[in-house]
Amino acid sequence: MPTPDRYTAEAPAECDVAIVGGGFSGLMSLVRLAQCAPKCQAVVLERRPLPGPGVAYGACDAEHLLNVPAARMGVFAERPTGFHEWLERNFPGRYRADEFVPRALFGRYLAEAVSQTLADTKACAAFVRDAVVHIEPLGQRFELLLASGRTVLARGVILAPGLPPARAPWRAVDEGVTRSLVAQDPWDRAAVKGLAPDGDAVLVGSGLTAIDLVMGLRRSGWKGRIVLVSRNGRLPLPHAASHGAPVVYDPQELMRGVHAAFRAVRRAAKELARVGHDWRAAIDAVRPHAQAVWGAWPASERQAFLRRLRPFWEIHRHRAPAHLLEAIERERAAGTIEVVAGAIASLRMDAASTHAEVVVRTAHGSLRVIRASRVINCSGPAMSVSETLDPLLGSLLRMGFALADRLGLGLRTDREGRLIGADGTVQRRVRLVGALRRGELWESTAVPELRAQAAVAAESLAQELGCGTVDRRAFTDRSDSAPRGAIGGCA
Ligand SMILES: Cc1cc2nc3c(=O)[nH]c(=O)nc-3n(C[C@H](O)[C@H](O)[C@H](O)COP(=O)(O)OP(=O)(O)OC[C@H]3O[C@@H](n4cnc5c(N)ncnc54)[C@H](O)[C@@H]3O)c2cc1C
Repeated sequence: MPTPDRYTAEAPAECDVAIVGGGFSGLMSLVRLAQCAPKCQAVVLERRPLPGPGVAYGACDAEHLLNVPAARMGVFAERPTGFHEWLERNFPGRYRADEFVPRALFGRYLAEAVSQTLADTKACAAFVRDAVVHIEPLGQRFELLLASGRTVLARGVILAPGLPPARAPWRAVDEGVTRSLVAQDPWDRAAVKGLAPDGDAVLVGSGLTAIDLVMGLRRSGWKGRIVLVSRNGRLPLPHAASHGAPVVYDPQELMRGVHAAFRAVRRAAKELARVGHDWRAAIDAVRPHAQAVWGAWPASERQAFLRRLRPFWEIHRHRAPAHLLEAIERERAAGTIEVVAGAIASLRMDAASTHAEVVVRTAHGSLRVIRASRVINCSGPAMSVSETLDPLLGSLLRMGFALADRLGLGLRTDREGRLIGADGTVQRRVRLVGALRRGELWESTAVPELRAQAAVAAESLAQELGCGTVDRRAFTDRSDSAPRGAIGGCA
């Protein structure tokens, strides 16, 4: 039986549904598809050779932690405690429900949920290691062109590609530094390997990715100085063990605009402090309203939020486990970690041609020169789809099959996640799941939102397709004469 931990290079020539991306969104779309239309033949296409699902749960080691407590990470909305129950079955008594557990364990749990669902429903799926670089409508179907040159013909498509990586933030000032001294992709294991001991590690960004990389560098035994450079020089704020009193907002007040919303949040946080409770409840209580509020704000308010308030919001909303931040603070006090507010003004080889010379223009206007053993991009995904070099996104936008949302944060969709083309037509039988819907939903990042999107996308697509019409023999025959890359394991 093919499972998400056993990808093959061979893609079947045809399927009912092609799922682009084998991260949480793609796999949960598959799970929901198997549950509602077990006869639907699905192919999951994933380009990265990761040991687990997607960047968050695949490109991590045993020490990288979730930033959401275990009890809220169940893959099924109807059973949010499912992950903690799985932990209890596999590691009795080891993890508390409110604990931040290793992300790799969540990856294992997710992969098991997929395999179990496929077994229970007797649904068929193939897991193919290849990148989709182009999608073209062919009559009632879609032809997916893969990086290997192969093609897959599908009746429906679920796009779940996550966010494209940003181009290196130093790109415009890079004078051609030796490539082994710069790491564009922080999730590539090579990013923290083989650093010379006598220079600094410069991490560009100071969010959750940078914290992961700091931990990765220290675990690898590297003892050099680490400098985090980001525009605002702020680290995420810590999670608290317990949030205390719940906060109830009037959604109409939040919808009035950015300033009204922030006044309401500040008022709630002050009130919590006054009665001896924690401010975090004021942030978390916004989340159930976030999509409706974002949808109600006109483009000018959304722009104002992105320009002025997003960095503050992000450090409050995307918090880090407290003990990791404490470890960083200890190192800051000892001088082995420094956080600099500023931007890279130039990047060149040093005089000896052994290290990179990073010149940082600080927020105060001064210049700092740092001799770096490696410069690592921790700036997160691209904020604008037009900036990305991602071949599939570029091709979808160029051919007008997809349209960027007004702020360019992602792609336009209707309420069920159907892609909207450049001429305004809804692309029937094509769904988008994941963070590329953030332009229209904003909160489209974490497990709770994504599991809901995946369910809607899979169920509505299966209904539209009336699934199960592809010749099943093409998928079940595993003899040599079977079509290439046949989907296996189906009853
Ligand atoms: C470091 C990190 C930690 C996180 N921690 C948490 C957490 O604790 N809790 C939480 O709720 N959320 C967390 N998140 C948010 C996380 O993004 C979501 O939970 C979820 O993993 C997103 O899944 P996704 O499938 O939408 O995107 P991704 O995980 O990015 O998966 C998309 C996949 O699609 C593949 N792909 C893209 N384009 C193509 C193509 N053209 N062809 C083939 N394959 C393609 C990519 O290689 C990738 O594997 C974290 C995110 C990160 C980055």
